[in-house]
Amino acid sequence: MTSRILVTGGAGFIGSAYVRALLGPSGPPGAAVTVLDKLTYAGSLARLAPVRGHPGLTFVQGDVCDAATVRRLTAGQDEIVHFAAESHVDRSIEDGTDFTRTNVLGTQTLLDAALRNGVRTFVHISTDEVYGSVPEGAAREEDQLRPSSPYAASKAAADLVALAQHRTYGLDVRVTRCSNNFGPYQHPEKAVPRFVATLLTGGSLPVYGDGRQVRDWLHVDDHVRAVELVRTGGRPGETYNVGGGTSLSNLELAGRLLRQCGADPGRITHVTDRKGHDRRYAVDHSKITAELGYRPRAGFERTLAATVDWYRTHRSWWEPLFAAV
Ligand code: NAD
Repeated sequence: MTSRILVTGGAGFIGSAYVRALLGPSGPPGAAVTVLDKLTYAGSLARLAPVRGHPGLTFVQGDVCDAATVRRLTAGQDEIVHFAAESHVDRSIEDGTDFTRTNVLGTQTLLDAALRNGVRTFVHISTDEVYGSVPEGAAREEDQLRPSSPYAASKAAADLVALAQHRTYGLDVRVTRCSNNFGPYQHPEKAVPRFVATLLTGGSLPVYGDGRQVRDWLHVDDHVRAVELVRTGGRPGETYNVGGGTSLSNLELAGRLLRQCGADPGRITHVTDRKGHDRRYAVDHSKITAELGYRPRAGFERTLAATVDWYRTHRSWWEPLFAAV
């Protein structure tokens, strides 16, 4: 069915990949996509350049906390896929105010407008960080939320607000919780592009603490496929974990990138650990596999190499951003 879809945060790293996929050759036929994005330091219209001029794309610069704008834009939409967020943990540790405002109040504002305007489906994009550190095994959707950072706490609060809108009013809300994404157009404040940019500019990799914190790595294209599966086939009121299937310590990740860039393995500097740094994230994604047939298929080594190549060939995009990190 042709859909009118509002994508918040569609000029961000993952939201833009989702918009490019929706409007690309494998996207749903006739989709009309409205992007609502504030264009904070993390937003970049260059990410939407491949679909600029597409007749199905409308871009609106605006704030998800601005109720008047959100009400106006949600009128006439069939679905909302909500990516917009303040997303960088380190910034939230400096000051969490914008995180609570955008991630919690912004989500509430969108949900209220969705309900008022009869939006059919609301997909809320969350994170595995809401589970907190997982010492062993893998977090399941029904596990308790134990967020550590102000960022993770704001995302957990937003998840609960979103699910409450389903339980209280019956709005068809679906939540996804993914692991660490990587791929092209990611802001160089985040681990993979930061490491690659550091190596390409001759620096030494800054590794937090002992570097033994473990993360699951998910290529952004796999994440986008998972979100699309949830939008089109997920169940109302349900949460779906999305994992990538490659679990690495930060030191292991640094080692892979040093090899990919042909750099001296000694180019690592241990820096003071992040406050409240979770040791290990792991998600069990068997629910989305069983219900919707999701499997990560990007292939970690191949797509990590492709990502490094992308940063090699797109210096003009990331250099100014990296200089400001
Ligand atoms: P990003 O920081 O690259 O993009 C966020 C986008 O939201 C930007 O374009 C920004 O301009 C926009 N935005 C911020 N505040 C806004 C506001 N008040 N109103 C409207 N737009 C606003 O983030 P990302 O990495 O693409 O993450 C997208 C979503 O996925 C987020 O909800 C994040 O919590 C979640 N997530 C990301 C990862 C990851 O590895 N990147 C992992 C798990 C979950």
